[in-house]
Amino acid sequence: MPAQRLDGKACANAVETELHERIEVLTNAGVQPHLAVIIVGDDPASHVYVNSKIETCARLGIRSTHIALPAHCEEKVVRQHILNLNAQDDLHGILVQSPLPNHMDEEALTDLISPTKDVDGFHPQNLGRLVQGRTDGLLPCTPSAVMRLLKWAGVDLKGKRAVVLGRSRIVGMPAALLLAAKGADATVTVVHSRTKDIANVCREADVLVAAVGQTELVKPAWVKPGAVVVDVGINRVDDDARERGWRLAGDVHPSVADTAGWLTPVPGGVGPMTIAMLMENTVFAAESSHPKR
Ligand code: NDP
Repeated sequence: MPAQRLDGKACANAVETELHERIEVLTNAGVQPHLAVIIVGDDPASHVYVNSKIETCARLGIRSTHIALPAHCEEKVVRQHILNLNAQDDLHGILVQSPLPNHMDEEALTDLISPTKDVDGFHPQNLGRLVQGRTDGLLPCTPSAVMRLLKWAGVDLKGKRAVVLGRSRIVGMPAALLLAAKGADATVTVVHSRTKDIANVCREADVLVAAVGQTELVKPAWVKPGAVVVDVGINRVDDDARERGWRLAGDVHPSVADTAGWLTPVPGGVGPMTIAMLMENTVFAAESSHPKR
């Protein structure tokens, strides 16, 4: 039987419905959630992501400020924008779109964002809270998208074997921490490029999260029959016969659908949910900044 589709768009719609109510409460109290997005350079994919974020803000009634800077601008210009946004009382979330040009220090810039406005959840204070097992703050959007999709599908993680492919600061490691956190209670293995016998490690997983950035790396033989497979990967492949000449592919081969119990599509899986979690973080930051309202 083919895997059930773990539909990120449908799950994101459910999140947006909840957010509408919270935004209405805030707006009635005189607070409009407000997100600022800084993008540097002209990477087309990054501009598409930023535009989707801005469009989602507009749909939900979240105010947005879009700051687009040229690729050659100096790091100090970005730094000054962050400091100005930190000081702006009517602004609740700041996001610096990744990747930044090579001459900029992405982590140093993230460190400058006020932790209470860090809606990407990458500030050391917010990641540190996650390491401590405190999952009630601003969490990184893609890992929390994975968790919300699993919850939405009714997947009980308690005592299950979870394998996370990838150990990045923004996806793999925080996803592993969330899966292992109290309340989720999975037993987690993290796989990376130095892991031996990856296929066998993956085959033990009840829940497999692939975040490696390698087109269709995960094959059906890597997947336990009936496993839940979450494909975080977004890879551009230039082999499409259709007019535009390229397609988006995940880190999981589509034929895994014949083995898995649940599988997220690419596109339409973790991607839309990541934006939904960014919106949720922005609303949370706005609520936290006005606790008495
Ligand atoms: P990184 O390149 O930062 O990390 C990739 C990780 O995968 C590394 O830990 C690396 O290991 C590991 N890895 C790479 N190749 C292999 C391999 N052959 N076998 C085992 N492990 C391997 O990527 P990100 O975490 O930033 O992103 C991962 C994917 O998720 C990308 O496709 C990205 O586009 C996508 N993404 C999707 C988002 C969404 O909204 N859906 C948001 C963010 C990312 P090592 O550490 O040893 O180098």
